[in-house]
Amino acid sequence: MPVEATKNQVFLNLKNYFGYDSFRANQQDIVEAVLNKKDCLVIMPTGGGKSICFQLPALSFKGVTIVISPLIALMKDQVDGLNANGIPASFFNSSQSSEEQFAIIEHVIRAEIKLLYVAPESLAALQNILTEKYISCVAIDEAHCISSWGHDFRPSYQQLGFLKTTLPNIPFIALTATADKATREDIVKQLRIEDAQRFMSSFDRENIGLEVRPANNRISQIIKFIKTRPNQSGIIYCLSRKTTEQLAKKLKANSIPAESYHAGLNFDKRSKVQESFIHDKTQIVCATVAFGMGIDKSNVRWVVHYNMPKNIEGYYQEIGRAGRDGLKSHALLFHSYADVIQLQNFASGTSNEAVQIAKLDRMKQFSEATTCRRKILLGYFGELLGGNCGNCDVCKNPPQFFDGTIIAQKILSAIYRLKQKEAMGIIIDVLRGAQNAAILSKGYQEVSTFGIGKDISWKHWQHFVIQLINQGFCEIAFHKNNALQLTEFSNQVLFKEAKVALTKPIVVTEIKPVVKEKRSRLKRTKTTSKAKSATSNLFERLRQLRYKIASEEGIPAYLVFSDATLKEIERERPLSESEFLSISGVGQRKLEVYGDEFMAEIMNFMGSKVKKQKKGDTYTVTYELYKTGLSIEEIAVQRKLNVTTIYSHIAKLYSTGKKINIYDFVTKSDVEAVQKAKKALDSPKALRPYFEYFNETVDYFKIRLALSVIEKD
Ligand code: ADP
Ligand code: ZN
Repeated sequence: MPVEATKNQVFLNLKNYFGYDSFRANQQDIVEAVLNKKDCLVIMPTGGGKSICFQLPALSFKGVTIVISPLIALMKDQVDGLNANGIPASFFNSSQSSEEQFAIIEHVIRAEIKLLYVAPESLAALQNILTEKYISCVAIDEAHCISSWGHDFRPSYQQLGFLKTTLPNIPFIALTATADKATREDIVKQLRIEDAQRFMSSFDRENIGLEVRPANNRISQIIKFIKTRPNQSGIIYCLSRKTTEQLAKKLKANSIPAESYHAGLNFDKRSKVQESFIHDKTQIVCATVAFGMGIDKSNVRWVVHYNMPKNIEGYYQEIGRAGRDGLKSHALLFHSYADVIQLQNFASGTSNEAVQIAKLDRMKQFSEATTCRRKILLGYFGELLGGNCGNCDVCKNPPQFFDGTIIAQKILSAIYRLKQKEAMGIIIDVLRGAQNAAILSKGYQEVSTFGIGKDISWKHWQHFVIQLINQGFCEIAFHKNNALQLTEFSNQVLFKEAKVALTKPIVVTEIKPVVKEKRSRLKRTKTTSKAKSATSNLFERLRQLRYKIASEEGIPAYLVFSDATLKEIERERPLSESEFLSISGVGQRKLEVYGDEFMAEIMNFMGSKVKKQKKGDTYTVTYELYKTGLSIEEIAVQRKLNVTTIYSHIAKLYSTGKKINIYDFVTKSDVEAVQKAKKALDSPKALRPYFEYFNETVDYFKIRLALSVIEKD
């Protein structure tokens, strides 16, 4: 195969069909390996860009690429996305009529489609066309489903081993976001592609800002969080079904559009919530972890964990649903001891209790970290992050340590005086000298430590107690009603003058999002901040237009254009086809189908902006550019204005006496024709009568130019 020629074609296809100029990490190597008919195992985090790894080669193959995918909802989305890019693709499943299925099989035989998505259960029905005559490549998406060691085992995936035996000479590509090594090896073994080339991508999702907050007043914190993010899609994960419902209700009561989602709802209701979220009709979903697996939505801007996840794997997967488009996104986790205790209770008595508790411990350590959280997260998956990330709350707000020995002594002696029988709440009440029923009924007001810590707030005491637990100076006895107990290290603090370093409680302020824009933000001056509010206005208009188009076509908004593409359109304001095509995410088909509407919206927006400016300024700017010898088109590009607008400037400049070679733009006979029309129409003020007079064959700008000549001469 002439590889170089193919390479060029691949890049052309990447731009033409997907609208991208460059590959992301590993994508190019994978695409080339598949084109060279090598089997591949691709490990890439969610949002890493797995789809292109098989969709792009599919365009170069003669026959069809079969894509095995576990969920019907996912298939439909992917096929809609491909069609929106002008790539013929279908899915095949049991929900279709036999006529529909027959038609699809015909398409495969005639090689009229490039990709066919199939659930493993439906493969049997395709038996007759599963030959190398028709099929050129097999992609197995969510490949971890094949392994019972994975977190999402599907028995139907286990029969996929036969595929390689049936189609031994065509490339297989297995893709998953599961990093765990045992699962990885199980995948290649079961698919019988042991020699597959392995591609491991970094699991760092650097566009997702990480933040952990104590769970005090969660709901009001969440409301505030959402109100600073208007129109952004987000998911709030809760531990129980009840919490999802209560939370959604409270948010609604605060005029925040939210729905709940959990496995207890019937199928119809669940699909409705999911659909409506995908289509941007529901902004926020309060959900149990059941929500998300079947969702490809690329513009989820934030994920909140109302409750603490069971383990880091789950946490990572759930926050990964944010920011698949690569734009800055946010993950906020609420840390509560009550949650830890509840999760501990869930785990106790189960068959793998020890493993579950160990995993929960790691989750807890992450939540309580005083060092870069991303380092801990990636470290968990065996990846080493060079420096600190700069995009987590710890990096942005590093904890300040102080000598907390006396505070520690007060806490530990209270635990000792209460005979190691009381939980955190009572210990703190005693320290603060609270006169409540629980205290008085037990006579704790007589204890010598009663009231020795009135000067410190309840919340801060809690912060300090938790740190003592983390540092091992005391512990929670889960089997004794969560009583706080002393440890072998407590004595060193109480009697041996050991020093204890504690961190100052952090006043919760929203951490500012992210990295990538940092540099440009620094450069921005005061004047541009005004420009920024105007542009976000344009973004809103583009977003509305996208929503309208998506609703008409019945596809999710992000399949029309991703948020990343929309942002670039906002920034670049393309006004010609070539400019529009240079936007990342705009391929040939999207240019043809959506280009005009979006460019018209931008023109509209700029038209209304130009009117607000002082007229004189804008003419002068155009005149200065004109004097440098630029063409009208070039001036339009430079000024990010419409060509017609520039012509109207030229006309105006000419009639006010500026030196313009007007006959470069309008001919003498044009002028004569307009002169004639003017007489016939009795000098109308508007341009429209002229336009109609010429049966709409002469452009407005020509009429205007001719009139300026007539006026002047
Ligand atoms: P995954 O399946 O790994 O979760 P996707 O294939 O859905 O990821 O890709 C995530 C997002 O990244 C999509 O919006 C996709 O269009 C975009 N994307 C993929 N590859 C590129 C690329 N080379 N350049 C820009 N965006 C890309
Ligand atoms: Zn960090």
